[in-house]
Amino acid sequence: MVSRVIPVDPFDLVIFGGTGDLAHRKILPGLYLRYLSGQMPEGSRIIGAARTEQDSDAFRAFVKTGIDEFVAEDKQDSEAVERFLSHIEYVRVDAKGTDGWSDLKDLMRDGVIKAFYFSVAPSLFGDLAERLHLNGIADGESRIVVEKPFGRDLASAKALNSVLAEHFDETQIYRIDHYLGKETVQNLMAVRFGNILFEPLWNAQYIDHIQITVSETVGVGGRGGYYDKSGAMRDMVQNHLMQLLCLIAMEPPAQFDPDAVRDEKLKVIRALDPVPSKDIVRGQYRADGDEPAYREDAGDPNSHTESFIAMKVQVSNWRWSGTPIYLRTGKKLRARASEIAVVFKDPPHSIFGVQEGRRGNVLVIRLQPDEGMNLRVTIKEPGPGGMRLMEVPLDMSFADAVGGAGDDVPDAYERLIMDVIRGNQTLFMRGDEVEAAWAWTDPMINRWEDNGDIPEPYDAGSSGPDGSLALLVRDGRRWREVK
Ligand code: NAD
Repeated sequence: MVSRVIPVDPFDLVIFGGTGDLAHRKILPGLYLRYLSGQMPEGSRIIGAARTEQDSDAFRAFVKTGIDEFVAEDKQDSEAVERFLSHIEYVRVDAKGTDGWSDLKDLMRDGVIKAFYFSVAPSLFGDLAERLHLNGIADGESRIVVEKPFGRDLASAKALNSVLAEHFDETQIYRIDHYLGKETVQNLMAVRFGNILFEPLWNAQYIDHIQITVSETVGVGGRGGYYDKSGAMRDMVQNHLMQLLCLIAMEPPAQFDPDAVRDEKLKVIRALDPVPSKDIVRGQYRADGDEPAYREDAGDPNSHTESFIAMKVQVSNWRWSGTPIYLRTGKKLRARASEIAVVFKDPPHSIFGVQEGRRGNVLVIRLQPDEGMNLRVTIKEPGPGGMRLMEVPLDMSFADAVGGAGDDVPDAYERLIMDVIRGNQTLFMRGDEVEAAWAWTDPMINRWEDNGDIPEPYDAGSSGPDGSLALLVRDGRRWREVK
């Protein structure tokens, strides 16, 4: 397979929060991999900026430990690592004070792309944006990358948007949702809009329902106190699942350009019906042997925060009227898997009589593990015995089809950071999208907070609370078992 890596233009990328967990595990190892692939040009620099007092050598040593720990062994190339580290600098900067800003200004170069990654708590976004301008470090061409969570409700998201808008134009702001950087998520658009095959069937007439599942096996563990302030709705549904829902349900954009794509996604969010309480199931995991229950992890024996949520969502527009989209996500479940299952209707008439297994086609788009797609089709069971039907997956393994290119597929963070440098906002959330998503989730959250709604307990290692199964059984459907 010929490598199709196209180098980006030289850049100075400042990572505020460069000594933090996210930078250590994802951002810096990701940049190393892009360097290794030849995409990051030699004329580029990465500048760590954080509160810790240390010199650039100490920061390089820290970056190296991240590469050692989080980059696959076959990508560890000690010479390349040394060369990569020579592109790294560090400045101590206080986001809330005056320390370090003139040092950072002195380090920045003219004539290269300037990008600033805000890998810090959102409460610091405004301080950073303001100081970048006050100190003449950012200009009208600079880009800023902001991490989730982008607000915890509509009011706080609006406040964050307006604080950023004081100093940066919307075209300079990259709100990251790493789900959008996944190869399969982009493939979703390629499959839907690059083929004639699916789109004519992609509507309520042919699709019975859609399931979007993001299931995790881990609990909230060490970050229980933090998680307890958000819960599955804020932590996963408002952002990741919403983005997947948009891509699966949106109309074809006129072209694959950032605003055309994001306009269509926004229309989907605005077409979402409010979800009544009877269509929402919230859960909390029980203790499992020595493993604590959610409430112990959260450090609050009376916590009403959900570690699981399932809901039935309706997109109220011409295309989707009558075809529900079921969402579910949670912690401490049976499998670690993210997938979208598009369940087509049964053929309108069976010429084979009523047979076990005669069911509609299902297109499954797997985001993790093993990104890929698979289409369930009905065929004749081989051999004698008459016309017996069976269901088999029609193999559409991209990894096989593209001949091992899977090894070189950049992970979500790598891809998204390079998109920032290229100035391509397609895979980033626009401010109005984020606000619309909060405007939809807020009333549901307020309702259960006002009513003191108590989540239903579920066993660790299960598929969630019984109510989640009942949500589909009630409609004569069932959840696909994710593995
Ligand atoms: P962290 O607590 O590990 O690191 C925080 C960083 O911010 C440190 O480098 C610290 O020095 C710096 N910092 C704090 N106060 C500062 C100040 N006044 N001036 C300058 N620097 C200051 O946090 P993290 O886990 O790396 O998360 C960073 C951001 O990314 C957060 O917004 C978080 O919500 C988001 N995020 C993290 C993850 C993850 O897996 N860690 C995943 C998704 C989103």
